[in-house]
Amino acid sequence: MEKNQETKENLRKPMEKLGEFIQKHRFTTSLMGRVLNLHTYIFSKIWHIAWLLNTKSEDFKRFRGRIDRYLQPRKGEDIRTLAAKPKKKGGLGLIDVEARVNTIKSQQILQILEQLPETDNILYNISTNQQKIFGKISKGPTAQILNKQYHDITKNIENNINKIQTYHQNTKHPQTKHIQEILYPTSHNYIRKEIFETQEPKLLSLNFLCATGTLDLRQGSVCPFCKRDGEDLEHYLLRCTYLEGLREDTKNILRKTTVGLDKKAVVEMEGVPKGWPNQVVSLYKFNIWKFREKARYGQRVSEEQVRRSFDLDLRFYAHHISQEIID
Ligand SMILES: [Zn+2]
Repeated sequence: MEKNQETKENLRKPMEKLGEFIQKHRFTTSLMGRVLNLHTYIFSKIWHIAWLLNTKSEDFKRFRGRIDRYLQPRKGEDIRTLAAKPKKKGGLGLIDVEARVNTIKSQQILQILEQLPETDNILYNISTNQQKIFGKISKGPTAQILNKQYHDITKNIENNINKIQTYHQNTKHPQTKHIQEILYPTSHNYIRKEIFETQEPKLLSLNFLCATGTLDLRQGSVCPFCKRDGEDLEHYLLRCTYLEGLREDTKNILRKTTVGLDKKAVVEMEGVPKGWPNQVVSLYKFNIWKFREKARYGQRVSEEQVRRSFDLDLRFYAHHISQEIID
């Protein structure tokens, strides 16, 4: 098991903590909650040792694998990649640990290039910091490895030196996110931002997973409601005959708006404006998914139950939702 594999001192604490989280919280926390937990409890333990981390090492790969497992047991890697985009580009703002660690190193190198252009000083600082952090000199990266890391990062900076210099002229203190954007520019393909109009983490998480195709559907399984067609998202949300009444209820509520129950609106949340229409579409999906989970594990679910629960949820969220639709 995990215990027999030697984990280097510098990632031991975040690894242990992440292990605890995988055991305890995975099934009770929404994806948004897990992103928040990673930022608050796990990643916060590694920024001060960024200098000591080699993002190409096995150790680090194992750490990243564990992050993936925490996010989602089967599609964790996909989810991490998508969630690591900024919100305005369709992600969840999950910090990309590898890029962030390298950026912190780059920032330090930039400072050193300006102040003390001797690599010896960097190595000296690293060993001093290591003692400060761990209270002892542990088996950290050797000078050989660090020289290589330094070389790699410097090359990266050299490639982008013009951009960085221009940036320097404009601002005195470069921030991590700016250097990160220069060294690791993000893709400009992004999903619709309407997903993020809802404030509820659970609804937001579900919208995100649907729109990015990362919701954990079981290939080859049969829809547990109608027990006829295969399990896929469009079947659940748009076609399942068993849930026709629920669809009608929802259409009735939305009929004063331009939002239709079609693939673009429901699956991709495209063109679903801020406010109560967004909340209604999100709750519609949320209820189907909630009962799909129950039905999959053997509970008998009647359409009436799904409709009643949807109605209750609308009332519960009435403070977000226009009063007229629930009277
Ligand atoms: Zn069905």
